[in-house]
Amino acid sequence: MSNPSLLPDLVHANDRDDVADADAVATLDGVPVSQRIRERIKAAQRRFHANDNIADFIQDGELDALVDEVQTKMAAVLSSLVIDTDSDHNTQDTARRVAKMYVREVFKGRYVAAPATTEFPNVEHLNELMIVGPITVRSACSHHLCPIVGQLWIGVMPNEHSNLIGLSKYARLADWVMSRPQIQEEAVTQVADLLQSKMQPDGLAVVMEADHFCMGWRGVKDMDSKMINSVMRGSFLKDANLRREFLSLLQRKKA
Ligand SMILES: [Zn+2]
Repeated sequence: MSNPSLLPDLVHANDRDDVADADAVATLDGVPVSQRIRERIKAAQRRFHANDNIADFIQDGELDALVDEVQTKMAAVLSSLVIDTDSDHNTQDTARRVAKMYVREVFKGRYVAAPATTEFPNVEHLNELMIVGPITVRSACSHHLCPIVGQLWIGVMPNEHSNLIGLSKYARLADWVMSRPQIQEEAVTQVADLLQSKMQPDGLAVVMEADHFCMGWRGVKDMDSKMINSVMRGSFLKDANLRREFLSLLQRKKA
């Protein structure tokens, strides 16, 4: 997410032509696109919590319609906040900007399929501890939709049957999971489940340390509190020495 902060405004200025037919698209046949998607999910008896991925239930073109629908509802929120979006030039396009930000950027991990990864066999039969990190992760809490920004470390203990994935893919997969409204404890578990299914290692460790803006910006306004969560699986759970080695290497990388 290295977008220069001014760039989105320039891009969005070109989108205003779309806005006119936004309502028409969003309620094709009088049914909001979110309702069509929700009905498919319910028919399949699947969950659609904030940190679930629902890409399987979204058809071509529907994400654009979803942006239009969210824009309409976000405009209603601004109206209820008694903000004069007609004469306040700063907020004229805020509803559309926020809708695109949610659907296409910060929560896109709900709406798009997992990034492609190539798993390759462990031909060298590597069985040494591998540590990947720190990976910078960005998310938002499910409770307030406030940003969560932190760092993630992954420890993998492969065996000869494990699949390996390219180094950059760890960050891509983590970003896919984190680009949803999250709860940190559940986020680390989702990252661990995803890596476990792709790699089938003997052991897997995931540690996340993050700042929660809902602590620093609102509520108790504690700027310094960080939350740390870890998941240990397989040999990391059984072997205290391996766990210690991982955690001490991690401390050294943080220093
Ligand atoms: Zn929160």
